[in-house]
Amino acid sequence: MDLWQPHRVYFEPAAKDTTVGKRVQQYCKENNIPILETTSHNQVRGIPGEDEKAKYAAAKKTLIVGMKRSLKFDVCRPSADYQFSLMTNCPGTCEYCYLFTTQGKKPYVRVYANLDEIYDTIDKYIEKKLPHATVFEAASTGDPLGVEHITGSLRDTIIHFGELPKGKLRVVTKYSNVDSLLDIPHNNNTRFRFSINSNYVIKNFEHNVSNLWDRLRAAGKMAKAGYPLGFIIAPIILHENWKQEYKELIDELHHQIGFEEKSFVTFELIQHRFTMNAKNIIEERYPNSKLEMDPEKRLKKWGKYGKVKYVYPKDEAQEAKEYISNLIQEKFPHGHIQYFT
Ligand code: SF4
Repeated sequence: MDLWQPHRVYFEPAAKDTTVGKRVQQYCKENNIPILETTSHNQVRGIPGEDEKAKYAAAKKTLIVGMKRSLKFDVCRPSADYQFSLMTNCPGTCEYCYLFTTQGKKPYVRVYANLDEIYDTIDKYIEKKLPHATVFEAASTGDPLGVEHITGSLRDTIIHFGELPKGKLRVVTKYSNVDSLLDIPHNNNTRFRFSINSNYVIKNFEHNVSNLWDRLRAAGKMAKAGYPLGFIIAPIILHENWKQEYKELIDELHHQIGFEEKSFVTFELIQHRFTMNAKNIIEERYPNSKLEMDPEKRLKKWGKYGKVKYVYPKDEAQEAKEYISNLIQEKFPHGHIQYFT
């Protein structure tokens, strides 16, 4: 898969003189990408497109380099203590994407250039929890590897965490361009996770991300580079033939990284869920989507802030949990299933 390339890049003025800002300007120069200015991502004007669909597509090809203003980190359970953002939104266009309900009609890919301030904040959060370690998730608001070839921010962040005895970083990705991360001093402080899924889910619902084979090959490279490794199987969808396809997935994963099976590989299992708001947006954006979102077939569950989400009925979810957990335990006896949700 070709790496994502924006069609236009907007800079907030303060971002231009930062290390990330300079890297992005260099990238634009080398690739003939127009550079524009904006005071804030809310003020971006002039995105082309005759209708909403075209405007959405053009926004997905727009990069904004700005400063992260709010430096208060949200809690991030169950995967970490806190989450912070190197970027917001994502070059990918997965039909089930969890970002739909937060990105509105203008899903510009936004990257943050004030890394020093973000790192200072991380260090302060760690200090507050000493002598215990603090775990941070860096991929809750987008997939940072999707823009790494433009910003280099993830590499810098992994190096920063490499110097923090009590700071642990967790990243998750559907991309495979890991080469720039292989030779850096991560000091085992970054757990690098790959989001993987059955062939049916990847083929029908994941677009503009790396294919499964590339992700698995990238996982093999990261394992060889000594990174603690993890896999997120999400969203688990109980499609026709799901048992066979998830079995093939775990078999293939074992085939690719089995040589590392004595190391401590983590697994996170997340069943498909949706809110009515997300369902409406997805149906508007992907009118022919095969994504099953019939509330009648699901169980209502109250989430954070009183929001209702729809998950699989208890017996179906339990069956998926047991079946996939057994597959993992069989092939990865040293692996650790962290949760099924
Ligand atoms: S890769 Fe992740 S963040 Fe990006 S579109 Fe797909 S689901 Fe959303």
